[in-house]
Amino acid sequence: MPIDKLWFDPAEMLIGGHWRPASATLPIEDPSTGSEIGRLGRGEAADIDEAVAAAEAARQGDWGRMTAAERGRILARIGEAVLARADDLAQIEATDVGKPLKQARADAIALARYMEFYGGAADKVMGETIPYLDGYTVYTLREPHGVTGHIVPWNYPMQIVGRSVGAALAMGNACVLKPAEEASLTALAFARIVEEAGLPPGALNVVPGLGEEAGAALSGHPGVHHLSFTGSVAVGRLIQTAAARNIVPVTLELGGKSPQVVFADADLDAALPFLVNAGIQNAGQTCSASSRILVERSRYAEVVERMAERYRALKVGRALDDLDLGPLISARQKEIVEGFLALAPEGSVAATGTIVGDAPEGGHYVAPTLLAGPGPDHPLAQDEIFGPAQVVIPFDGEDEAVAIANGTDYGLVASVWTENGGRQMRLAKRLRAGQVFVNNYGAGGGVELPFGGVGKSGHGREKGFEALYGFSVLKTVAARHG
Ligand code: NAD
Repeated sequence: MPIDKLWFDPAEMLIGGHWRPASATLPIEDPSTGSEIGRLGRGEAADIDEAVAAAEAARQGDWGRMTAAERGRILARIGEAVLARADDLAQIEATDVGKPLKQARADAIALARYMEFYGGAADKVMGETIPYLDGYTVYTLREPHGVTGHIVPWNYPMQIVGRSVGAALAMGNACVLKPAEEASLTALAFARIVEEAGLPPGALNVVPGLGEEAGAALSGHPGVHHLSFTGSVAVGRLIQTAAARNIVPVTLELGGKSPQVVFADADLDAALPFLVNAGIQNAGQTCSASSRILVERSRYAEVVERMAERYRALKVGRALDDLDLGPLISARQKEIVEGFLALAPEGSVAATGTIVGDAPEGGHYVAPTLLAGPGPDHPLAQDEIFGPAQVVIPFDGEDEAVAIANGTDYGLVASVWTENGGRQMRLAKRLRAGQVFVNNYGAGGGVELPFGGVGKSGHGREKGFEALYGFSVLKTVAARHG
């Protein structure tokens, strides 16, 4: 969708039900071409102050008084409206983020699914009655935190807005959303859709802008009662520090170095598409990308060769041409990824994909690269590259597989490929990760599945029913009646 045909003005922000221009703007870049395609509002601390005040007013007003069933109905309507505009949203996202159209469309459908799921769940979050002393009735209530702050990254804007804002709204919180400066368009498109679907003014406020300006103002704001952050470890640390100053809870969804562990008895035909796709989807700019493939030594050479065959067929080009991979988000990200690839030991590149001839010169393209050679302690096997590169590492036996798999600072996602039932169960327990998959990877990304990390991958859970607990506070009521 051409930028001049958008149904919102990207230089504006939504605060308390009013769209108004920011006092300054930032460039919007199409990563497929490297060209500026418009201007984005650059929200400041003063805008965040107003957005937090508007959210506070909403929770004390109509939004705060609404029943859970009414909130659920509105979310369901938002889901329908998102579905109706899925193609437009996909075009906007492909242009803004550089992800192939098919993947952008899947993100739009996921955004709709989050609204349906949390719409349906809104009136099903219940407290408990607790047997207690004679003469007492004790029960618990699940109440909203109040104003929730949401800071999201550029790699999956629709999915991350959906899971975080969807669950927060379902519980009756009023949200202030700060999308990433590199990719804010679908958050603004969503804000307009939400308004049209009848969400009361102030229940969702969207202030785009720079991390160190609008983001820092939001995370440090004393009027915010809960923070949800998805992004890098470095910024996550700043967010947690800001939350500590205000003593508010925080959910951190950070990076990963997620392994797939392939035993010699695995069904390789079934595994191969997962092994490769989990590394190159969204050009590897995925928190849950599987950037390490651990293979039992007897089948190591075979797996490397069969993955290499697939790599050689991968095509990289403009997002709207919908090939296997699009560009990276920015020149800076390309530089970071190329810096990592330069560390590859001589002779360790097993295969690369192809950047198509008509990919625009200024786009931030990197050929997907399969590496066989860097050991488990090499930076390529330890650090999050956030680009289309995977390292294949051999192992001998279950204990070594677990030691290598668990041997990074991260713990977001892991998978095990084996036909041995006992080993499946053992590995599911022994792998240090927030999600473990058996004979698959990602399970289609289901909105129903609680998601989050351990270690430097963060803490707290989003997605699934579990997120509703995170976006609410438990209150215990003890009535003495004799
Ligand atoms: P980032 O941390 O640079 O930025 C994320 C968000 O934080 C952006 O909105 C940015 O504007 C904001 N921000 C930056 N500095 C800030 C500050 N000082 N105060 C407050 N906000 C600030 O991350 P990124 O480069 O956009 O995204 C990539 C990272 O996100 C990767 O590490 C990736 O693994 C992680 N990620 C994690 C998940 C997950 O669910 N675990 C999902 C997607 C991405």
